[in-house]
Amino acid sequence: MNRRVLVVDDSEVTRAILARALRGSGFEVVEARDGAEGAMAALRDQPAVVVTDLEMPTMDGFPLLRLLKADPASCHIPVLILTSHGEAASRYWSLRTGADAYLTKDHDPQQLVATVARLVEKSAAAPRTPGLAALPALGPVEVLARVARHLDASLLQATVVNTLLERGMEASDFHAAAQGALETLAQLVDAPFLALAVAELDSALVQILLHDPIRAADVETLADLLVGALSLPPDVPVEIHYDGERRGDVTVELDRALWLPLPLRDAEGVLAVMPRDPHGFDAATTALVEALTRHLALVLDNARLSQRLHELSTLDGLTRQLNHRVIYDRLTDELERARRYRYPLSVVLCDFDHFKEVNDTFGHLAGDAVLREGAAVLRRCLRGTDLLGRYGGEEFLAVLPQVDLDAARQAAERLRLGLEGARVRLSTGVPEVRITASFGVASRDELPGPLTSDLLVSLADRRLYEAKAAGRNCVRP
Ligand code: GH3
Ligand code: MG
Ligand code: MG
Repeated sequence: MNRRVLVVDDSEVTRAILARALRGSGFEVVEARDGAEGAMAALRDQPAVVVTDLEMPTMDGFPLLRLLKADPASCHIPVLILTSHGEAASRYWSLRTGADAYLTKDHDPQQLVATVARLVEKSAAAPRTPGLAALPALGPVEVLARVARHLDASLLQATVVNTLLERGMEASDFHAAAQGALETLAQLVDAPFLALAVAELDSALVQILLHDPIRAADVETLADLLVGALSLPPDVPVEIHYDGERRGDVTVELDRALWLPLPLRDAEGVLAVMPRDPHGFDAATTALVEALTRHLALVLDNARLSQRLHELSTLDGLTRQLNHRVIYDRLTDELERARRYRYPLSVVLCDFDHFKEVNDTFGHLAGDAVLREGAAVLRRCLRGTDLLGRYGGEEFLAVLPQVDLDAARQAAERLRLGLEGARVRLSTGVPEVRITASFGVASRDELPGPLTSDLLVSLADRRLYEAKAAGRNCVRP
């Protein structure tokens, strides 16, 4: 077994004491006077263990440690930091930079020998970087250049991680966070596309960033591969977002893409990055992207969880539309805005007809599915600026800012026709279910004097009652 120990310390006395203690316990000792000499000796002599001081002239212990731990030729060599002052920060930084052990100089000699013996065992068991040719002897300038290179690589990684986290914190929702993350990565790697896919229990998101104008067929295959990479239960809706031109003529060999699992919490995720170079990414780029997946997953987890929290507090669980409290609050806000800027505002109250019969005929679960689909139809028939909320059981409230009574009646008629034309297919094998609804419309300009949400909604409610009385499946007034 290799029992060579490299002792790096600028004090001749300390080196002599350490060397004596170690030799006395059967170790072979080589010595160096500072970090640069230590690095040269470590790379040249391949010791089993390095024992180093922290404060030394020319190059101190931290850069030495960083170099040894980053360099494939020496990363397997355990390093013991031996320092005269045991401040918490220096201990933290030593261990974070990769030190295998940390002792202060007031240790008892037995402790040093025991620690070195443990590290020699560890060294013998450590896997070596395969295929590494013998290194040419390095001079001090080359050593410093290597340290600078490794420092720069860590700084790059730290900067990217910081950008990823910043973009993630700024993102308004999960999709924006995923988009921001891919845009950040796209600045680092030369790739015709980058993509990620995340599957939760009840939803999945695929985000694709196309740097080159890739052929539509290839983009479709990519989306299929991403969805296929997740183990999705059937019927889970997949939201797919594209960023960039996807009607181009660039073909890509998808099987050259780098696929990396994303370590997400309670979700499954994958990152796909396509190297532009036919030989793939170089080792440093691959290592960087691999190292970043952990941070990327953290950003996505954070965005996922905060979006979920936001949805839980604002959306109705069944229909994913705004819940009663939120639609009512939004109506109050919109009314105030409409009053201040003197524009019209209308509400449409909608109640599904004979809904009890749907439940009685097909069961409550089928009723739920019909409600969910009915709400989706209403949402699709409204404009983006209109608000929709579940007001009660099978009752929905739409708030239409800048819309007067006439236009609101037309909008309600559109909703009515949309529902009437919808066919809800239940997976239980029963025939398609058809539904209708009745609508009451009310407008801000119909009511004189100070107007409240309550007054406006009760007017719509009276008209909804009239629509029911008139035979249902109609709009009033
Ligand atoms: P009308 O045309 O007069 O509105 O008749 P209706 O049967 O729709 O009216 P009613 O108010 O008598 O009944 C409403 C039904 O809606 C009864 C209730 O069980 C059902 N409902 C309310 N919320 C839900 C729900 O979340 N899921 C299901 N499946 N049914 C619901
Ligand atoms: Mg009803
Ligand atoms: Mg009702």
